[in-house]
Amino acid sequence: MPRIRQQNVLAAQWAPNGAALGAPDLTVADNQVFGSSVFSPTVQRQRLPREVFTRLQQTLARGEALDTSLADAVALAMKEWALERGATHYTHWFQPLTGSTAEKHDSFYAPTGEGTALAEFSGQELIQGEPDASSFPTGGIRATFEARGYTAWDPTSPAFILENPNGAVLCIPTAFASWTGEALDHKIPLLRSMDALSKSAIRALRLFGDSDSQRVFTTVGPEQEYFLIDEQYYFERPDLITTGRTLFGTKPPKGHELDDHYFGSIPERILAYMLDTERELAKLGVPVKTRHNEVAPNQYEIAPVFENSNVGSDHQQLTMQVMQNVARRYGLVCLLHEKPFAGVNGSGKHNNWSMGTDTSHNLLDPGDTPHDNLQFLFFCAAVLEAVNKHQGLLRASIASAGQDHRLGANEAPPAIISVFLGAELEKVFGAIERVEAHESTPGSFLGLGTPVLPPLPLHGGDRNRTSPFAFTGNKFEFRALGSSQSLSLPNTVLNTIVAESIDKLADELENELQKGTDLESALRPILQRTWTANKRIVFGGDNYAEDWHTEAERRGLLNLRATPDALPYLVSDETTGLFSHYGVLSERELDARHDVFLEQYVTKLNIESETAASIARTALLPAAARHLSMLLEAQLPELAQETAELVEEFTQAIHALESVNLAENQPHEPVAHAEYMRDEVIPAMAAVRTVADKLERIVADDLWPLPKYSEILFIK
Ligand code: ADP
Ligand code: MG
Repeated sequence: MPRIRQQNVLAAQWAPNGAALGAPDLTVADNQVFGSSVFSPTVQRQRLPREVFTRLQQTLARGEALDTSLADAVALAMKEWALERGATHYTHWFQPLTGSTAEKHDSFYAPTGEGTALAEFSGQELIQGEPDASSFPTGGIRATFEARGYTAWDPTSPAFILENPNGAVLCIPTAFASWTGEALDHKIPLLRSMDALSKSAIRALRLFGDSDSQRVFTTVGPEQEYFLIDEQYYFERPDLITTGRTLFGTKPPKGHELDDHYFGSIPERILAYMLDTERELAKLGVPVKTRHNEVAPNQYEIAPVFENSNVGSDHQQLTMQVMQNVARRYGLVCLLHEKPFAGVNGSGKHNNWSMGTDTSHNLLDPGDTPHDNLQFLFFCAAVLEAVNKHQGLLRASIASAGQDHRLGANEAPPAIISVFLGAELEKVFGAIERVEAHESTPGSFLGLGTPVLPPLPLHGGDRNRTSPFAFTGNKFEFRALGSSQSLSLPNTVLNTIVAESIDKLADELENELQKGTDLESALRPILQRTWTANKRIVFGGDNYAEDWHTEAERRGLLNLRATPDALPYLVSDETTGLFSHYGVLSERELDARHDVFLEQYVTKLNIESETAASIARTALLPAAARHLSMLLEAQLPELAQETAELVEEFTQAIHALESVNLAENQPHEPVAHAEYMRDEVIPAMAAVRTVADKLERIVADDLWPLPKYSEILFIK
């Protein structure tokens, strides 16, 4: 089928769905849908016997293990609530190491043997499931013959109902472990890391005289970038269908150079999509706050209000799922790949991270009393030390094949991890460091009476959009995550490395305080030491600039360009020591993740390279050949000559790609295999693409079988 302009006209058609979305009177309580599909604490209070509710809340607040005697009562209330909402099935909803979510649905109904069925759902079924999990990646933790994996209810993340035009399913967020109790998912280590950080932070807070806080929660507020394209183009592109990104496509004459898209007015069809998505997410209790156009054409962003890391991560997985589902209602496809279009900005996910007490105090908020400021500087210094010490691990926590196209490209932070603090905060630390030089300065330097310390809180005006890890007033923004990524691993890493440095600083502080030193004087040398030891990680300049690479190298910072370069840091001695000390992941569990990530990298690239070879040979090469014969027939020897040369070059490149793709040419050992993909397969794919993109520019438009960037990115 030749491609004709008519297809673009079809792509531009759409019908508003759910015509009256904006119509209900939102001052009427019943019209507010927020949380209506969530078995929230409010619903629990209404439906659980008072004593059960109180015990459940107490258990959760203390972060203790659940008393199984509560489970039957909770299960009963949950089942009734779900049946009222049309749920016929329930599922333990979990996050295996694939990086996405998994679910196996079971019906509530069991036949009674008298020709009827009864809805059943016991506490046991709520607490534990046993999916046949032999096909999930385990990195060797569980041999396939030992297929048992267990899902365990996570009562700290509320159950919810996923609606479908034909019914509904009760989803119960769960952890997923092997029968030996090892974590096979991304949730368990996240929960463990939150506990570790809480313990360290509470201990430190006691030194600052805080005796009220019982628990510290880490918080996450993700900003998610994504593309929306018309489904017509999506289904015409086997590369998008199979790999999530375009493997071919020449740069369009118009990109984002005019800056006419960023924060532009949102097209009606897109806004309709966003409103619908946000409404669905609201029902699920996901508090979406912000939406806007992003830099690239057809690129957008959605950002919820922050939540605790566990619930926030679950909600982020749900958000990605809902975004993709709702898109189809509008004839759109939502692309979450990190780099769907070469040469066009890719999509990331900004991970805003902070620590907050159960008494509602944000530990990264400078506050406005001298005491608060001291405490803030302590926690801020701990973050600096953690990021500097574990740069490689942080980089590894966001590594994937998709990310390798984005990190270090012109629109995304480089693969070098550095911290932006802002001029004001740098000045504060700098002044603390220098004070040592003239000991005569009164010890009350940090008493904030001095003009050196600017009035805090620091405000958001002082921003650096190119930094991979930026302080933004009352939180750090880890900006290097990929758009399709689960939040769990990067946050697990952040929590664990910061727990370690908080403990180290707290040790030092405790030492000083034991000598009878007052808090302020005790803290000063600690802040001095931390700043001097870690300031190399602080960079306030343009992270996208070429000279930063040279400068970073001079400072001894890591620049881990590709996934196989970064992954070893997941299993370094430093990492394994740290993670087992805090009980977050054992060496075996880390090894397992390392194996799984290597395998995912290899498999993804293998799928890409085979797809590229197949499209090149069976779709693009024939198009070029047809074009050539047309030119020959038309007796246009010069043009025919030009085309013939490219066709020859293309054929060679395809042969080379097919050869590196052969299984017998690939190493078997996982690390060597990943390096082979990086060093042999990616360049071979790139070589094919270079010629294909040249051909795209000369082959007759109606013969070219793939929709072009100039169509995909601009027709909406
Ligand atoms: P930006 O300028 O990067 O768009 P905003 O100030 O609009 O930043 O906030 C962006 C994100 O920061 C939001 O998703 C919000 O939920 C998150 N955020 C705000 N406070 C916190 C916090 N204490 N912990 C974690 N995330 C937070
Ligand atoms: Mg941001």
